[in-house]
Amino acid sequence: MTEDKVTIQEFKLDPDCELRFELESKNEKMTLELKSGLAEVFGTELVKGKKYEFTCGAKVAVFTWQGCAVEVIGKTDVSYIAKETPMSLYLNCHAAMERMREVAEKDDTRGPILMVVGPCDVGKSTLCRLLLNYAVRMGRRPIYVDLDVGQGHIAIPGTVGALLVERPSNVVDGFSQQAPLVFHFGHKNPSSNSVLYNLLVTRLAEVCSDRLQANKKAKVSGIVINTCGWIKGGGYKMLTHAAQAFEVDTILVLDQERLYNELVRDMPDFVKVVFLPKSGGVVERSQIQRNETRDQSVREYFYGSRTPLYPHSFEVKWSEAKLFKIGAPILPSSCMPLGMKAEDNLTKLVAVTPGPSLLHHLLSVSFADSPEDDVVQTNVAGFVCVTNVDVERQTFTILSPQPRPLPNHILLLSEIQFMDTH
Ligand code: ADP
Repeated sequence: MTEDKVTIQEFKLDPDCELRFELESKNEKMTLELKSGLAEVFGTELVKGKKYEFTCGAKVAVFTWQGCAVEVIGKTDVSYIAKETPMSLYLNCHAAMERMREVAEKDDTRGPILMVVGPCDVGKSTLCRLLLNYAVRMGRRPIYVDLDVGQGHIAIPGTVGALLVERPSNVVDGFSQQAPLVFHFGHKNPSSNSVLYNLLVTRLAEVCSDRLQANKKAKVSGIVINTCGWIKGGGYKMLTHAAQAFEVDTILVLDQERLYNELVRDMPDFVKVVFLPKSGGVVERSQIQRNETRDQSVREYFYGSRTPLYPHSFEVKWSEAKLFKIGAPILPSSCMPLGMKAEDNLTKLVAVTPGPSLLHHLLSVSFADSPEDDVVQTNVAGFVCVTNVDVERQTFTILSPQPRPLPNHILLLSEIQFMDTH
């Protein structure tokens, strides 16, 4: 067998340029090292001499304001230097937010509440990451809100959540997910249950507002909100609902002039709507790749990435858990109890009888103690995955980040499945 030769490439970047690379081949790895100058990956500064290891699926840009030299060891599928980037426009947005924070600091008011919108694959999450990183590098403590249930950057897909950002994101793994506030939605598309989606967004906005009130530093720093790529029809309505719920004062629209014009038309005057071009480096993902990133995010939740995690597997008796899903089919109004609207069914807690159909499904472990509590609007402690169902013994086996027993008994069924092939 011949061993592949290790490829070592050195790139010299002029100021305001970025090196973009993608790693698609399975089992390939590559290492990045800053040799001289200053550079950052989506707003996080690289440490000179430190080796950053990327694996399959990585799509990265190393940007430099001052010029730098980097070394890449290993085979990348794509790597090139781009001279044209929208980074100075993005930096201007950060500068404008900083000015709003200074005013908020002086007047003891709330800092900027900014929402990033646009179609799929235009760099919304990346722009949020950049703005959050620049803010923490200035000593700010902003809240990151992720409303993109398809990818779920804060927890796992099928959830919405918020995170107080206290340090820049890790160059390879993104933001540290310590103590996020997460709500169970249970679907990968917001269109699957728009009533529930809007309810959770409203709830998340309330909790974030309380947190801002309780933490002076966070209050001044404000919120950066990432959204779904569904921007037409019902998706547009959800965006405007989110803008209202969070009382956003700035909306950055990436790449879509139509959406920009619609928002300028529909938003109240105090909301600044800003159009921004997308970066030429943003990589479009196919449906298959999108599914893979979803899977990857769940795998990382259980097994970790750079630092491996060792999840537990144990049996749970059906009688030990109370299983629910959110949302019952809509019935004609005439069939609803007096005083209830047909759409109330969409946010109803519905008991689920365990059975073989649970196999591979993700379950959220609710913080609620009893089904009489408002389970739908209570945040979740974490997630487990059903890896086996034994009908005869009336048990199911779960993969869990924590050892036995289950931290809580109320479990919420997600439509999202994960095959544990570890
Ligand atoms: P969206 O949130 O709009 O769906 P993302 O921010 O997730 O888009 O970007 C899609 C992919 O493109 C991500 O994998 C991200 O790492 C990559 N990406 C973003 N900006 C760049 C860039 N300038 N160079 C290379 N890859 C990039």
